[in-house]
Amino acid sequence: MRGRVVRILAGVCWVDDGAREWPCKVRKRLLKSSRTFPIAVGDTVVFEPVGAEGVVTARLQRKTKLSREAAGDRGVEQVIAANIDQVVVVASVRLPPLSFTAIDRLLVSAESGGLASLVCINKVDLGGEEDAERARALYERVHYRVVLTSARTGQGIEALRAELRDKVSVFAGESGVGKSSILMAIQPGLKLVTREVSTATERGRHATTHVSLLKLSFGGYVLDTPGITHFKNYNIKPADLQLCFPEFAEWAARCRFRNCLHRNEPGCAVSEAARTDAIPAARYASYLEILGSIIERQRPDWETRKIGQRSI
Ligand code: GDP
Ligand code: ZN
Repeated sequence: MRGRVVRILAGVCWVDDGAREWPCKVRKRLLKSSRTFPIAVGDTVVFEPVGAEGVVTARLQRKTKLSREAAGDRGVEQVIAANIDQVVVVASVRLPPLSFTAIDRLLVSAESGGLASLVCINKVDLGGEEDAERARALYERVHYRVVLTSARTGQGIEALRAELRDKVSVFAGESGVGKSSILMAIQPGLKLVTREVSTATERGRHATTHVSLLKLSFGGYVLDTPGITHFKNYNIKPADLQLCFPEFAEWAARCRFRNCLHRNEPGCAVSEAARTDAIPAARYASYLEILGSIIERQRPDWETRKIGQRSI
């Protein structure tokens, strides 16, 4: 039988076969094959039913994965979730104020993991229509889908449901932008664990046990990731950051130097495009800021050890 792992608690994988959830142990041979627990939430697995329970015998190839460095185990990848289809990058117009850089950092995380993403601007009931529309124009211009919502009034919630239908999504965004509120508006009664788990636990060794897939009644799943607002990125190299800004590509091809980092190099077509608004200036500013933090982080010891995975 086949199913999707929706939760892992104390080494038991809860597998949804479409009709019900099966508590499954993992076959020993599979456990021995990996340094960390071989199954993650979101994995599609093959299992053998034994009465009302089951044994996971194989894991299918992962389409995508969200990872971070295993706590206390430098350089070891810990997969938080597998087979996520899209990241919903949430920001709010007010409280906290709208930050394009915060949005761009999360879009970069998604791009670097090969995940599709969409932008959700929440709290539109608090005013600031102009700011919300500016954000919409900016991100639609660079080909992201954008939804404006209010978890309070319900505005835009139906449009967001349509974006989530039949997909596996994860919500990301600064604390306080309204991620949990939006999820509750989308499906009242959804059992979020988010609020019960402290940041300390999130950093702890057993973090993955609190990650779960919540089934949406209209089709699809949402990954509930307590306290995880930033994905840890696997080592984005400075030269690769531009790939996370898809709208740069056509300009980057015209730079004078092939290895151009698009800062202020002579003959840089990207910085020139930002000056003439052929590339949105806000996106270019985010690029420079993120590039700066990547370079800064790598500097002290970048030749002496393999750079681990860190958040951007
Ligand atoms: P999270 O940290 O991203 O999960 O944010 P929460 O869902 O906990 O929301 C943070 C605060 O913002 C709470 O006090 C919510 O009641 C409030 N909030 C969330 N969405 C909205 C909204 O659309 N409009 C308004 N006015 N407040 C909201
Ligand atoms: Zn350039």
